[in-house]
Amino acid sequence: MTGTVVVVGAGQGGFQAAASLRDEGYAGRILLVGEEPGLPYQRPPLSKAYLTGRADEASIRLRSASFFHERSIELVQDRATAIDRDAGQLHCASGARLAYDHLVLATGARNRSLPVPGAELDGVFYLRTLPDAEALRPRLAEARRAVVIGAGFIGLEFAAVASAMGLDVTVLEATSRPMSRAVSLPISAFFREAHEAAGIAMEFGSVAARILGEGSRAEAVETMDGREVPADLVLVGIGVVPNVELAAEAGLAIANGISVDEHLLTADPAISAIGDCASYPSAFAGGAATRLESVQNAVDQARSVAARIAGRPRPYRAIPWFWSDQGPLKLQIAGLAIPHETTILRGDPGSASFSVFCFDGPRLVGVESVNRAADHMIARRLLAVAGPGLTREEAADAGLDLRQRALELLGSS
Ligand code: FAD
Repeated sequence: MTGTVVVVGAGQGGFQAAASLRDEGYAGRILLVGEEPGLPYQRPPLSKAYLTGRADEASIRLRSASFFHERSIELVQDRATAIDRDAGQLHCASGARLAYDHLVLATGARNRSLPVPGAELDGVFYLRTLPDAEALRPRLAEARRAVVIGAGFIGLEFAAVASAMGLDVTVLEATSRPMSRAVSLPISAFFREAHEAAGIAMEFGSVAARILGEGSRAEAVETMDGREVPADLVLVGIGVVPNVELAAEAGLAIANGISVDEHLLTADPAISAIGDCASYPSAFAGGAATRLESVQNAVDQARSVAARIAGRPRPYRAIPWFWSDQGPLKLQIAGLAIPHETTILRGDPGSASFSVFCFDGPRLVGVESVNRAADHMIARRLLAVAGPGLTREEAADAGLDLRQRALELLGSS
């Protein structure tokens, strides 16, 4: 196919869509439109190695300038402001009008703002972009007491880094357990204990009501029950909001994300959406509308769309997977975080190396592994089994060779 593909959003998904289009042999024009300055970069190190100085700006860039040049991928630094579907044009803040034959929306998500007085004080940080991390890093180096609002992945990754750097860290979480939207009860319990053992104070059912400050500088977080937790640095990690406005204003359907079908197409056959901004019917979740925030999801959806545009359509069916590094603990999740009826442990949480196998009825739906990369890789195979898969009894059998069993099941499915 020739013509022009315009990709909006030069993050993980947008970058991958442009790169995969060339890998798939697409010979037309590719424009990658991103509002952020500089070359596309990875976000995961921003809450991990970048904060400790083990990664720098150059090392987190997804590719060098020559990569884009050699593949004739045109990088356009601009903010897309509107889609004219009748004319097949993307309008940009600079005034440019970019004609497209196909438009890929990869606009990602933005941080949910903390809706309390004092949230604008100096010393209150968020973590989504490279400038966010650049602003945070020097302040982290000089801070003594940090309060983290939200015990999700990013809040806990940051808490682990800050604690290892010698700060007193308190995590305030509104729900009753860490990472409650995304992990099983045993994993929540394990991480709570591990972070507490490392010296991080964790408070659950605790809601920030106000950031208190001396002059313009944050000094403490006041909770709903009137307590003051001292802080010279506050990190807010209370989730994200998908960037759907472009699509919504163009009349496309929105349901916690830009609604797409199993080919990641919107109702307009010339517009796809991928990554954090897209809500797709997950085959893995029985067709339920699903919006994921992970590198795997952005990358695999980008590849799927690129293959379709290049003339090789196939429904998007990838097995979801995710990782989070929290201090010395590497959590890897294969499958989806839907309510689990049964959880079965393999390995010993006491040794900080174990996996939780999650079943929905008789069906294995997810495997969460802590410092057990081999289990995670096998889990991704087990979850790909089409017919009857690993049983609960087999998961509970510590003597069973999981790798062998995965091969048998895949062979017969
Ligand atoms: P993004 O990568 O966010 O890219 C979207 C881009 O679109 C942005 O650059 C944005 O500025 C741009 N954009 C938006 N609107 C417009 C517009 N109108 N015009 C032009 N440009 C626009 N995932 C994991 O799997 N493991 C991890 O350990 C992990 N750690 C993370 C740590 C941090 C600190 C963060 C923030 C995320 C982490 N993630 C992790 C999540 C992962 O990075 C995201 O899921 C992934 O980046 C999503 O890719 P995306 O392309 O959908 O969105």
